[in-house]
Parts: sequence; structure tokens; C-alpha cells
Amino acid sequence: MLKSENISLQMALAGFDAWGVVPAAELSDAKVRFESWLEEGNDYHLDYLRRNLDKRFNPTLLLPGARSVVVGAVAYKNLFSLTHPEPHGARIASYALAEDYHLTIKAMLRSVAEGLGVTERGKVKICVDSVPLAEKSLAQRAGIGWVGRNSLVVSPRLGSMMLLGELILTEECDTYSTPYEGDGCVGCGRCLLRCPTGAILPNRTLNTSLCISNRTIEQGLEGAEGFDTHGWFFGCEECQSCCPHNQDSPLYANPKMAPLFDPQEYDSNFWAKLTPSEAESLFGKSPVMRKFKK
Ligand code: SF4
Ligand code: SF4
Repeated sequence: MLKSENISLQMALAGFDAWGVVPAAELSDAKVRFESWLEEGNDYHLDYLRRNLDKRFNPTLLLPGARSVVVGAVAYKNLFSLTHPEPHGARIASYALAEDYHLTIKAMLRSVAEGLGVTERGKVKICVDSVPLAEKSLAQRAGIGWVGRNSLVVSPRLGSMMLLGELILTEECDTYSTPYEGDGCVGCGRCLLRCPTGAILPNRTLNTSLCISNRTIEQGLEGAEGFDTHGWFFGCEECQSCCPHNQDSPLYANPKMAPLFDPQEYDSNFWAKLTPSEAESLFGKSPVMRKFKK
């Protein structure tokens, strides 16, 4: 039996800023909503979202015998998160200025598993983004926050500038978290007004064909059909930088979230001329490398 106190200790030691533990139950409601979102064709070119649907909403299909899911959030807000100068022409989402979070969070979760003494194959599965898992629903159930109108999990303490990761475990936990029931979006709607392309749908999801973040990160979609990226080179944070919950939220505490470079030093002309090998030597640890691995 896992002790929630020990999980908290290990998550804090690993550098997570918020966490919770939920039973590894099927997320049927979330699955129904996701399927209808897919039926409406909002997944534009993200074919992988149509695969592994059952696994995405049922942790026991990702790890047979799963009983618990530990959900962790790391805050990444930095000094570049709220300001992306318009004339610069090469705006970069602030999380992408730090080391690639896939590697960082995976290492953090591995250290949590070690701290819990659960490392045996078949007893634990580490999930960071690339594993199909409905992490926003899990984060809400873990008490981390609510799913905001911008489609992201918003924490009342940390805002929405967080990255998530999960540990699926075959052990039960002595106490599970209370789901977050509040809705800090009531009376707001700034993200809908701010989104330059109208990508935010009324039901707290996105039309990914209109989302600049999707277009500039996924390969080959950036300029398709004359799409205007509004000066964004990698990602887009406009629906977050305007959010009231991100104005006074704390900057990153985990040193792994520290920016590796100042995005304002590099304009669109610089990025256009950069070769993959130059990019590798200058920005090899950053997620922006995804743009150069075509
Ligand atoms: S990331 Fe940008 S384009 Fe996508 S929904 Fe948010 S504001 Fe709109
Ligand atoms: S900007 Fe307003 S509506 Fe949008 S996610 Fe933040 S609080 Fe919710």
C-alpha cells in the first residue's frame, strides 16, 4: 500500500510544484467528450489522437493491474512568459526556452518511483505527453485545478503555465485526492477574445487547425493554406499570457525550468537561416529542436 505522505515527500523532492493521486479508473465521461470532439474533426492532422483511444481513457490498459495514478505539475512561468514583443517576428512559447520537458519530467518521475521503491517492470509506468493518457482530466481529478476555457488545466495557485506528468502504479494508495470542483473561468473569457485565430471553442476545447501552437510545432503545418502564425515561431501563449490566473502566479521554482536562451536575441531571419546542425549546437536541449528534425 502506497502512503500519500510518502508520495508527497517524493514529489516535492523531485521538484514538482503540485500533485495528487487518483484511482486508476476508466475516464468514461472524458472519453465521450473526446470522441465527439474527434467526430467534429477538430483534431486536424493530429492522427495520433485517434489511435489508442481506449488506452487514453483507461490507465489499466496502459499498465495491466494499475490501481493508482500520481499526477504531477511543474510550473514553468519565466520572465518571458507574459510578454512576447509583437515586432520581433519570432515569438517562442516560454516553456520551450528550457530543457525539453519530456526528458526533465521523465527523470523526475523516475526519481519518484525510486523513492517509493517501485521500480520493478510491470509495476510502474512513467507518462509524459508522448504516452496516450487523458492527463488534463486526471489533473482535475487529482485536485490540481480545473480545465479552463483555453482548454488547459488552470491551478488557482500556479495558473496554467504548468507541465504535467504521471506515474501509473499497480499499488493502491492509502488516500486519494479530492477532485478540484471550482471554476475560476466564471465571468472571464479573456482567452477567447485574445486568441488571434479563433481557435478556442465554446466547450473548453480547441480547433487545432486554427491553433497557432499546433501549427508551429507539428511538422509542415505552419504555412499550410496561407495560415497566419501572428509572429509565432514555436508554440503560442496568447491564451495564457492574458489569463488573470497567470498574472501573479509564481515564476518557476524548479531549476530545470530555467530558460536556456533569451528569445529576443533571435529574430525570424535568424531562425529561417539556421541549419539543423547549428540549431543542435545552440539549442540542442530545447524543444525548439523539433522544428529542425524533419
Ligand atoms: S495557443 Fe494561441 S492560437 Fe492556440 S488557442 Fe491559444 S491563443 Fe489561440
Ligand atoms: S483567460 Fe479567463 S476564461 Fe480563459 S482560462 Fe483564464 S480564467 Fe479561464
